[in-house]
Amino acid sequence: MSSHESAIDRVVAANSGPNYEFPPPQPALGLLILTCMDARLDPHAMLGIGLGDAHILRNAGGMVTDDVVESIAISQKMQLTREIMVIHHTNCLAHGDRAPTFTPFQTAKWVADTLRADPRLPFREQVRGFVFSVEDGSLTEV
Ligand SMILES: [Zn+2]
Repeated sequence: MSSHESAIDRVVAANSGPNYEFPPPQPALGLLILTCMDARLDPHAMLGIGLGDAHILRNAGGMVTDDVVESIAISQKMQLTREIMVIHHTNCLAHGDRAPTFTPFQTAKWVADTLRADPRLPFREQVRGFVFSVEDGSLTEV
């Protein structure tokens, strides 16, 4: 990439339009995933799912914010998803900034517990927390 070409210019130039069929907007699995923005994480590949299977929310660390809760509430009230999967990961750079003294096992459990206790969410029976290992690709429930 030349020094004056931006990353945005590069990816816009690479866009070739749809090269696959768009699935329906309703997530086929009724699943919502909250995870980190980390560039190493590919939720579809990690979980063996495809486009159209789940709503995926991402932020620094996969943390609970008001915006996250509002988005989950919208998804649930529209009857699009009922199960919530929280996935934190090892070697998370965001943890150093947002939760420096906790392990991803502790934060994933805390986020799942927090969502399970939030009355703004209509469906809280299936909220589960996991840690993804960026070392070996394994997924461990907390
Ligand atoms: Zn992270």
